[in-house]
Amino acid sequence: MAELIVTTPGRTRLRRLRRTRTLRNLVAETTVGAENLIMPHFVLPARRANVAIASMPGIAQQGLENVVKQIGKDLALGIRAVLLFGHPEHGGKTPDGAAAAAANGAVQRACERLKREFGDDLIVMTDVCLCGYTDHGHCGILDHGQVLNDASLAPLVHMAISHARAGADVVAPSDMMDGRVAAIRDGLDDAGFEDTVLMSYAVKFASAYYGPFREAADSTPASGDRQSYQMDFRNGREAVREALQDVEEGADWLMVKPALPYLDVIRAVRDASLLPLSAYNVSGEYSAVKAAAANGWIDERAVTLESLLAMRRAGADILITYAAGEVAQWLRA
Ligand SMILES: [Zn+2]
Repeated sequence: MAELIVTTPGRTRLRRLRRTRTLRNLVAETTVGAENLIMPHFVLPARRANVAIASMPGIAQQGLENVVKQIGKDLALGIRAVLLFGHPEHGGKTPDGAAAAAANGAVQRACERLKREFGDDLIVMTDVCLCGYTDHGHCGILDHGQVLNDASLAPLVHMAISHARAGADVVAPSDMMDGRVAAIRDGLDDAGFEDTVLMSYAVKFASAYYGPFREAADSTPASGDRQSYQMDFRNGREAVREALQDVEEGADWLMVKPALPYLDVIRAVRDASLLPLSAYNVSGEYSAVKAAAANGWIDERAVTLESLLAMRRAGADILITYAAGEVAQWLRA
């Protein structure tokens, strides 16, 4: 029988720095705090509406009064940025999505009210895309089954200007048309909104993880899919091209969406650009954790915090997550 040889470690013992919680906290390379989080909201035209989204426990489509109340509560917990998605009035969806730029739209009214209520304590960000407003559900103008690129730019510019005019601090185009960042930047500047920040959904993949969101935003395409404009998830180098193109066009801030299955892309974009970078922890990621936790299969709090930390470690500065309010509460406890 061979003799068992036990060697002791050398001078290096990596466990030394893990001995106590205080020591571990002191040497931790990555943190996540409420100041890193953005909470998305779905705003309905009816002021007192509150419609729970079955596939996203804890999340609802809300009218202005409830949105303001919720945002006030989250603000007290330290959530200082919100991303607004809108809905037109019933019957307001058209082929060109014109209601997206209406001065009295749900998002525009929410921007005005939130800035009046919370001033510069709250960063109001808006999603800029036509899919919630077009009757066909695509993110641009549709012609014979094709989403037209250049014809889609003007309505997106009008939508972004209407948000800036209503007081939005940040507009965030999510349509993935080529050239939209430059077009929106020029449009904002020409309209006198040169200080409005432009956060580009620079790298948005055609992902199955958006499933629950489509119920929330009521934006499922009536026909076809979004693969001719959103990115193919088999491509990582192309993701960096998308990001650098938006930097070139004048974006102030970039985003990768979804987050957890795309940590490699977050890292690649982080290394390729000096801009602030967000990761969007999307509905499918959120709902999967909620469903597993509801079954008692995972520890919701631990898994959520570990996932968000992984996104930060991969290089995301800012996290857009439906769990923002809960996370802020956990971090306080
Ligand atoms: Zn869209």
